[in-house]
Amino acid sequence: MTSAVETFRFLEHGSPADPVVVLRSRFWNFNAIGFFDGDEACVVDPGIYPDEIEALRRAVCERAGRLPRRVTHVAVTHSHHDHIRGWMRFPGARIVFPRAGVEKSEAARTRILATKRKIDEQLGVEDEGFRYPEADIVFDERCTFTIGDLTAEMRFLPGHSNCTSVVWIPALRTLCTADYLVSPGLAYCRWEARAFESALATMRGWCESEGVTRILPAHNDPIEGADAVLAAIDLEARTFAFLRDRVRAEITGGRSREGVVREAAAAVARQRGSSGGRRARQDTDNARRILAEEWPEPVSP
Ligand SMILES: [Zn+2]
Repeated sequence: MTSAVETFRFLEHGSPADPVVVLRSRFWNFNAIGFFDGDEACVVDPGIYPDEIEALRRAVCERAGRLPRRVTHVAVTHSHHDHIRGWMRFPGARIVFPRAGVEKSEAARTRILATKRKIDEQLGVEDEGFRYPEADIVFDERCTFTIGDLTAEMRFLPGHSNCTSVVWIPALRTLCTADYLVSPGLAYCRWEARAFESALATMRGWCESEGVTRILPAHNDPIEGADAVLAAIDLEARTFAFLRDRVRAEITGGRSREGVVREAAAAVARQRGSSGGRRARQDTDNARRILAEEWPEPVSP
């Protein structure tokens, strides 16, 4: 995956009527998010390049003729390298991070930091003193905090990874979904398939009961409108269920493990009308994760 985009841009600039800022990075279509009220601001996964993080900070903090707002909270949704990059760049802010992220093993942290360093090299980013996120506010299921008069809530929602959470801003009817719904119909599962399906069902329930009208995923395009939000979740769930059905059918058909993965991934690509590239790799990866549940590999003694 290359990122030949020249510069970042703002998808949302933030205004008194809609105090949300979305900065589209030149890397991986990543969306760094911020919101503000009164004298305070919050940023959510404020990646990627240092100049982008600084531009996000200015966009949420600066206002004509008045003292700048303070970033009081940095919400880190999960521990993947593109989401943790900006946590150190808001001195004085409290870092909010799910317990599952805080409690990552030393080995997992080392892997994450190594991946980040590799990407830094590709991007030409110098980030010498970077450390794994150190949380000020740790939560298990949910955590509420306020930004000016706005309430924000982080909710633990494992599935994309075992430590993923999302950020809900009730007054703005906006759900920041991290790596959920980044490309509806092409599930971005990096952990367990069943947990991913269950996360989608949980999220659908929240969207209905809370009246979510905007989803801000961490990559690609925002989803606007209550109907579009539910349609995106349904498409994602339907496509994943289709893939699981295909995996089951191919197992019954007597194929090898690799054959099951190949045929099931090809079937979902045909159904979607896509072929090749990054999508094919993700379909294959999803099929592999489903296979691990439908046809567990024998555990060696
Ligand atoms: Zn992720």
